[in-house]
Amino acid sequence: MPLTLSGEDALFTELSGVATDVVARCGKAAFREAALFTHRGLSGPAILQVSSYWQRGEDVRIDYLPDQPQGWLLEAKRSQPRSALRKVLPLPERLATTLADRLGVAGELGNQSDKVLRAAEARLHDWHFAPNGSEGYAKAEVTAGGISTAELSSQTMEAKKFPGLYAIGEAVDVTGWLGGYNFQWAWASAHAAGSAL
Ligand SMILES: Cc1cc2nc3c(=O)[nH]c(=O)nc-3n(C[C@H](O)[C@H](O)[C@H](O)COP(=O)(O)OP(=O)(O)OC[C@H]3O[C@@H](n4cnc5c(N)ncnc54)[C@H](O)[C@@H]3O)c2cc1C
Repeated sequence: MPLTLSGEDALFTELSGVATDVVARCGKAAFREAALFTHRGLSGPAILQVSSYWQRGEDVRIDYLPDQPQGWLLEAKRSQPRSALRKVLPLPERLATTLADRLGVAGELGNQSDKVLRAAEARLHDWHFAPNGSEGYAKAEVTAGGISTAELSSQTMEAKKFPGLYAIGEAVDVTGWLGGYNFQWAWASAHAAGSAL
């Protein structure tokens, strides 16, 4: 599900329409795909995937520059001392400007201390958002929860306690990553139940 932002994070909604390749993390889950800023918060494949693991009150963490090697910003200070941070970020311009503003790194890189740039680099690889909610069922692509698989026959999908009752697809507590796994589960479980009837 897309996640909504409020408070300080809501400033990012000015970036509505900007997308970039990120690693989005929540707990131990991590997805490398596109993230999209929307007028209400965060969306795009990386966010939709990670939202299946997100619990209210948790942070979603974003690595904006997953391909940059450690120390790249100090290297940029040495190689491009006259450039501003926003100019050396290989990101969409509006996003680069917003991130540089939020980090408070203005002016030429050559005038920044190594400590400030190390801290900025660390945040660019681990930017925390505290979503205040999600866009809910209306925008969801898959739902978590449902009838426990422990209550069903894995061969026929028949309820162990209620012979003659079958559960398949989204009704069962099976949540796949995006990309076809949920269709596959819906069809495969339907085939198993249909074959048994
Ligand atoms: C926008 C979107 C994008 C998605 N993209 C992907 C994707 O790319 N890959 C992927 O694997 N999965 C994707 N999914 C998830 C996938 O569509 C579902 O997991 C899958 O369709 C579930 O199949 P199902 O048969 O269990 O339920 P559903 O497909 O929801 O079918 C349930 C059917 O029951 C009908 N129904 C409900 N109540 C009643 C009633 N009382 N009487 C009679 N009929 C009723 C509904 O109208 C519906 O036709 C996406 C879902 C959404 C919403």
